Amino acid sequence: MSVTELVPYDEALSRYEPLIGLETHVELGTSTKMFCGCKVEFGAPPNTTVCPVCLGLPGSLPVANRAAIEYTIKIGLALNCTIATWCRFARKNYFYPDMPKDFQISQYDEPLCINGWLDVVVDGETFRVGIERVHLEEDTGKSLHVGGATGRIHGADYSLVDYNRAGIPLVEVVTKPIPGTGGLAPVVARAYVTELRDLLRSLGVSDVRMEEGSLRCDVNTSLAPIGRAEWGTRTETKNVNSLRSVERAVRFEIERQAAVLDAGLKVMQETRHFHEDKGTTTSGRSKEEAQDYRYFPEPDLVPIAPPPEWVEELRASLPELPAARLIRLQAEWGLSDIDMTWLRNAGALDVVEETVAAGASAADARKWWLGELARLANEAGVELPDVGVTPAQVARVAELVKARSLNDKLGRQVFEAIVAGEGSPDEIVAAHGLAVVSDEGALAEAVDAAIAANPDVAAKIRAGKTAAAGALVGAVMKATKGRADAARAHELILERLS
Ligand SMILES: [Zn+2]
Repeated sequence: MSVTELVPYDEALSRYEPLIGLETHVELGTSTKMFCGCKVEFGAPPNTTVCPVCLGLPGSLPVANRAAIEYTIKIGLALNCTIATWCRFARKNYFYPDMPKDFQISQYDEPLCINGWLDVVVDGETFRVGIERVHLEEDTGKSLHVGGATGRIHGADYSLVDYNRAGIPLVEVVTKPIPGTGGLAPVVARAYVTELRDLLRSLGVSDVRMEEGSLRCDVNTSLAPIGRAEWGTRTETKNVNSLRSVERAVRFEIERQAAVLDAGLKVMQETRHFHEDKGTTTSGRSKEEAQDYRYFPEPDLVPIAPPPEWVEELRASLPELPAARLIRLQAEWGLSDIDMTWLRNAGALDVVEETVAAGASAADARKWWLGELARLANEAGVELPDVGVTPAQVARVAELVKARSLNDKLGRQVFEAIVAGEGSPDEIVAAHGLAVVSDEGALAEAVDAAIAANPDVAAKIRAGKTAAAGALVGAVMKATKGRADAARAHELILERLS
């Protein structure tokens, strides 16, 4: 059953209450796989980092990776979870061509970490997202469908399988249902994944690159008529691979499910595929129930029983977490909530912190990173930290502007030249003759010429309309190709005409 028309978002929200939940898979950044000694390496030639264990050959036996267990406990602690004193791996049985054993070693009713929370701030409002569980499992291999138009199996001529990813340690973080978000549901979902990503990055347990698949989200969405006590049937949109897509997927499902419910139909419990290009979801398979996987305790592995002293040692080793860091940096820098949110969303807190450490004021660091550098990054289609300008270079430009050797306009030209690979700020200033004309003789000449060329403006200023001086400053800037010290030119103009 499907409907083709969507219900406009605000209208859907006027009748239905959304409930969301997220399951996030994180590939851990251990040097070897979960149950064997194969190297973990992104981009290695296909089927080169494999062995009998991760290929599931008969007679091979798994051994758990201590570092992966340690990383998982750290994640659990950072998410305020209780760490199990004893737990086991379980076999999750299903057939999939990129899973060589035909079962996945996972955790079922005995996860390593349970019952935590993560605070997420949206528009100044804090949502406490409950964490149901954090468990450890192994990743599957990867199928590549060749010949079809979409890269999906449907319509492909043949498929290739790469087992390099099979057996990479994977942590799954499952939230409890997140009620009470109302129309903010898509934004809360995105903010949660952002917060989780930053938390994982600060722990150093994963490179959390969504575009490379080391962080992948399944987004659960359901709707219930407003005022109804029980929740609606949920859909699970699989493998959403960017923060923006998380938000779009929830929004689309709200508009789609509202249309299904409006038509008097039932929402199917199913998995759905998200289509990046159109921002839509389409039906996948009907959702398996846990019993379909015939879970049972993994007989080839011993239980995990982390000693309490070890857990406490790991707790003590946790770094400053992103929420605490944000509060500290905001107090140190004196920036607004909006600036901090923007910097954080742009992944630019580190570069601003380094720019300040290199001697710039927080206000200058903010001005350049959120202004010209954000523009250049946007133009190049890269993340702000990857724009090609170092924090030390930003600090140097800020210093030159402060010393009035450069003005803001020339500063922008210097950044453009750095991005174009022309060298350091000082090299560029020297090579292009960008230094501000602050030598009084040259500046005075330009000012006199501007006054002579604009007698009517000069007359106005003489008559007391000093605001008109801007036009003469403009003429001076034009004559010096933007290299004049505008503030000094303004002073000279008023001196001569008063
Ligand atoms: Zn292996």
